[in-house]
Amino acid sequence: MNSQSYVAQNGLSDNASRRNVLQLLLIMTCICGVIFSALNWSIDQTLALLELVLAGYSLLLVPFSKHIKNQFKLSLLYLIPLYSLFLYALTLPREAETAFVWILVIPVLSHLLLGRWVGLWVSVGFMSLAFIIYIFHTLSQKEILDTLEVSNLALAASAVLIFSHVYEVSRVDAHRKLLHLATTDSLTSLANRARFLDVFERERNHAARNKSDLSLLLLDLDHFKQVNDLHGHDVGDEVLKYVSALISQRLRKTDLACRMGGEEFAVLLPGASLERAIMVAENIRQNISDLPYTKGEKVVPLSVSIGVSEYGFDGRDLEALYAIADGHLYKAKAGGRNQVRNRVNMRNCELDLALAD
Ligand code: GH3
Ligand code: MG
Ligand code: MG
Repeated sequence: MNSQSYVAQNGLSDNASRRNVLQLLLIMTCICGVIFSALNWSIDQTLALLELVLAGYSLLLVPFSKHIKNQFKLSLLYLIPLYSLFLYALTLPREAETAFVWILVIPVLSHLLLGRWVGLWVSVGFMSLAFIIYIFHTLSQKEILDTLEVSNLALAASAVLIFSHVYEVSRVDAHRKLLHLATTDSLTSLANRARFLDVFERERNHAARNKSDLSLLLLDLDHFKQVNDLHGHDVGDEVLKYVSALISQRLRKTDLACRMGGEEFAVLLPGASLERAIMVAENIRQNISDLPYTKGEKVVPLSVSIGVSEYGFDGRDLEALYAIADGHLYKAKAGGRNQVRNRVNMRNCELDLALAD
């Protein structure tokens, strides 16, 4: 079983796509910085030097941009000097009008790299500063403001800002829905296998760091094929939804129930020792066998077999924990179904058998 993060593996993480954008921008800034520096050398040496410094600085940031963790801080470290250079260019006599074009890039870059809210406020801050600098600069040159020119610039800047913000808000919303679809089982609304792998990875690391407990339950409905055969596939589907709700009822917010496929479920119990995991498993088993699925006259008796494993004693990765829990589940089926098996009662069962012999 591959336990590498599904979200990261499939490029569904927002941070991963932002990291790619940041890397591309750093390289582009490096190349453009050198080109602009060459073009501006004869016009304004200070600006040309600053552009060269920014090019070198961007190149320096490239290796750090590979780590997703620092992506937000690194984006700020990149954007603030870049925007400051845009503002500086606005104060120069020959550059003011053309430099304002670059101000329109601010909301696009900020939203791309910093997200909708920080991106919005950073854009508003720098764009307002740019506007103030532009007005003072124009007044110092011409003494009268061309209202049409100023309103054109203000409207264009506001339009790009609003567009960037609305686009980012809807993109984040669509991304959240996509992530939900990719990590949820459509029939039962429980987590799917992909989400289970992600959460397991996170909880396993947490348990290893904090030396805390973590347990796994594997559940398989008993004789579920008969439910389909006797009542039809649609009722079978309804039963799967019903059982999912019964399992979820018995869990804490921090626990994760997942449909692994067919009529098999897994429950991850962070912070639960084997003792507590057995209690939860017994609770679920009892609940399912006490509460048959009913619809009108139809009554569908149900039961479930459960295997339990505990992080540390039974293994340290998902493959090992899954194999142990699956082994216990198999024994629960062989032992007559509707029961919970784990390494403690396995030992007791073996002792009972030995005594009987
Ligand atoms: P056991 O007690 O040994 O687990 O017996 P079982 O009948 O539950 O096990 P088996 O693996 O033989 O059958 C599982 C059945 O689950 C077969 C399949 O038709 C049914 N099933 C799998 N996925 C779905 C589903 O999404 N909806 C419905 N209605 N049935 C499903
Ligand atoms: Mg099965
Ligand atoms: Mg079954």
